[in-house]
Amino acid sequence: MLSKIYSSAILGIDAYLLEIEVDIHPGLPYFATVGLPDGAVKESKDRVKAAIKNMGYNFPGTRITVNLAPADVKKEGSAFDLPIAAGILAANNQILDGHMLKEYILLGELSLDGRVKPVRGALPIAAACRDNHMAGIILPRDNAPEAAIVSDVRVIGVETLSQVVELLNGGIVLEPAAVDINAMLSALVDLSIDFSDVKGQEHAKRAIEVAAAGGHNLLMVGAPGTGKTMLAKRIPTILPAMTFEESIETTKVHSVAGMLGTRRPLVVNRPFRSPHHTISDAGLIGGGPIPRPGEVSLSHNGVLFLDELPEFKKNALEVLRQPLEDGRVTISRALTSITYPSRFMLVAAMNPCLCGYYTDPKHECTCTPLQIQRYMAKISGPLLDRIDIHIEVPPLSYKELADRCTSETSAVIQKRVDAARRIQHQRFAGSKIHCNAQMSSRQIRNHCQVDAASHRLLEQAIDKLGLSARAYSRILKVARTITDLEGTSDIRIEHVSEAIQYRSLDRQFRF
Ligand SMILES: [Zn+2]
Repeated sequence: MLSKIYSSAILGIDAYLLEIEVDIHPGLPYFATVGLPDGAVKESKDRVKAAIKNMGYNFPGTRITVNLAPADVKKEGSAFDLPIAAGILAANNQILDGHMLKEYILLGELSLDGRVKPVRGALPIAAACRDNHMAGIILPRDNAPEAAIVSDVRVIGVETLSQVVELLNGGIVLEPAAVDINAMLSALVDLSIDFSDVKGQEHAKRAIEVAAAGGHNLLMVGAPGTGKTMLAKRIPTILPAMTFEESIETTKVHSVAGMLGTRRPLVVNRPFRSPHHTISDAGLIGGGPIPRPGEVSLSHNGVLFLDELPEFKKNALEVLRQPLEDGRVTISRALTSITYPSRFMLVAAMNPCLCGYYTDPKHECTCTPLQIQRYMAKISGPLLDRIDIHIEVPPLSYKELADRCTSETSAVIQKRVDAARRIQHQRFAGSKIHCNAQMSSRQIRNHCQVDAASHRLLEQAIDKLGLSARAYSRILKVARTITDLEGTSDIRIEHVSEAIQYRSLDRQFRF
């Protein structure tokens, strides 16, 4: 007897349809899976057998062959347990009415006692289900909310194998899962942190606003305890609200990484990821034996915060270059390569020296000049090249700490950022880029013309202050963003001089 079940597997953040054929034949007990199954798929034999028996069904003691097609794509993970089990039960007539099997995708890992356990990637799989004109998807109940975000697909959450058998045999009816996307989009916005929590640091806050407005990467240099992390965490609260498309794209990444819970099926706040400096390359960039998105992709459409930047392995910082440049990472595998999106705003923080107090007037720095030089040299030039804005975050004075005035809220700052972004959308309409930070050198020439006074100032900065040539184009881009925040069109000397201030590393450390 032969049966055919539909399932789906993930490649990158997209999914493709899979056919699972099960053939049961008289003969000595034998159970083989073919079609390039990986380790976890092979192990599924034992789980499937135990689950079928423990749920009180008959496991055929004959030859069983399971074929996963298409054969030329590597299948990974344990999500095929449920479709394989259903295929066996259908092939030996324990599932009788097969009409649902022709219209539904099955997905789920089985535990030995027959419970259906959650899997990764339910959202892109539901999307593949719709794109392939399937009626619906039967999957673990915990994955139902994220899958139900996709419209026009019947999503049926299940808890046990026997529930699936009953459902397919018409013995029970299960209602499709439903989610209210509009309610999710509006209700889940995180209001627990706000820029008004941060006292003082007006200069840093202004620089952050400029960075957010133009999509510029940012580096904060300051002694321990000056609030660099506190500032960084609040950056997502002033970035423009996520569009629905951005939300879906980011949710797909988190779905593939298996990070969505039933309570948070849709990512509606811009992600803020802050990996520790001991993170592996695979953890940062993505990959691993069963490929998963790394931190650069988990922060897609949000902020990637690297605290203690010089402590990261040099190699880790080198591998950041591709995602920073292209907005995506490609991971090569034996048979194929996988691409994950990774468009994030990079925010980094570091101490000014080994002891941390080089720029602090109240503490004495105990580092030698050579030590300071070595410490700064740890961050690679090419990475620094992709950071438009660097600022010093000074220790707060007593007056600032004791200040009772309330600062601006994130909502107020976000309004200005939104307005500046709208100007950029118009400027770059029809091109591939969205914000000033992404301008090419040609676009800089077109969009960042400066007057004679600004030219003289830039000349002085480069000749006398020792600003590097590579800093030049960054200054022009940032100056453009400053005019966008102001709502003016001409770049004037005050805009250029503010932008020069945001090249603190060039001035301070001259390396
Ligand atoms: Zn020091």
